[in-house]
Amino acid sequence: MIIVMKMGATDKEIGLVVSRVEHLGFKAHLSKGEEVTIIGLIGDKRKIEPHVLEMMDGVDKLVHILKPFKLASRDFKPENTVIPLNGTRIGGREVTIMAGPCAVEGLQPMLDVAWAIKEAGVHILRGGAYKPRSSPYSFQGLGEEGLEILAQVREQTGLAVITEVVAPEQVPLVARYADILQIGTRNMQNYALLHAAGESGKPVLLKRGMMSTVEELLMSAEYILSHENYRLMLCERGIRTFETATRNTLDINAIPVLKEMTHLPVIVDPSHGTGRWQLVPAVARAAVAAGADGLLIEVHPDPENALSDGPQSLKPARFVQLIEQLKRVAEAVDRSVQ
Ligand code: PEP
Ligand code: MN
Repeated sequence: MIIVMKMGATDKEIGLVVSRVEHLGFKAHLSKGEEVTIIGLIGDKRKIEPHVLEMMDGVDKLVHILKPFKLASRDFKPENTVIPLNGTRIGGREVTIMAGPCAVEGLQPMLDVAWAIKEAGVHILRGGAYKPRSSPYSFQGLGEEGLEILAQVREQTGLAVITEVVAPEQVPLVARYADILQIGTRNMQNYALLHAAGESGKPVLLKRGMMSTVEELLMSAEYILSHENYRLMLCERGIRTFETATRNTLDINAIPVLKEMTHLPVIVDPSHGTGRWQLVPAVARAAVAAGADGLLIEVHPDPENALSDGPQSLKPARFVQLIEQLKRVAEAVDRSVQ
């Protein structure tokens, strides 16, 4: 259920409606748009007295949201969510690029990549310190040492950092280092982790589960939003299909579908989406053409010897070439690249 306020409703009127709703035992989520304010009600709707609320000053109408996701829906917030971060505006006109190695492997390789992407105009560096690997025998990441390396690289280069968090109890530690918390495909339905990331108040990038529907992704988003953490972005990173020619099947449809269903920024990961660096540029260009708000791309100085995901990592020089191409694609769809 949402309450749509009249155009020009005053702060006092909005405040009175919020108090009333809270008094009825609901949690009120406020979406202040340029034109109207919408108040989202989360709670047991049997307690609602629709007529009383509808009669209050400044209220235009009450609308039932039939979809199972509420705070993520465009009904609740018609305007795109824009997340300003380190000189970029994720979800704005710019297409935000986040790039770096799959895993943090050491200070020097991280610095090499960081300077290369910075020179290409990128503002956000990726790198996992905790790696959720399919095999327990694969490199699991450097842990806290990896976070320390990210902190040093951020300090030296001024790049913001996105890094993955894999367990709820780790959130406070990772949140001290990260500018964006990444929740990986294997954890999309780790509800304790979603709650913890929501509570942290940090920007979150939530990846679609490799076997999850778009609606399930939005339901997981709802967990984070329910903590009034609205700095959330969604990431399409490929799903499992019968196809074996590529590591995953990047669901290009998910981009315009999500843009229709939700106000949240949509980021695309063509690296995990394809699994092969040779395919990454084409799919990255397609994602921008299809309306992605950003890209998460794996870049490694020496992919042949990478400790994880080498086969899908671009070398810095190829990445720089790709950025130049992406600028032209972005221009064709009225956007720019940052
Ligand atoms: C990653 O970004 O390196 C990663 C592990 O991604 P995903 O969760 O999409 O597999
Ligand atoms: Mn990876």
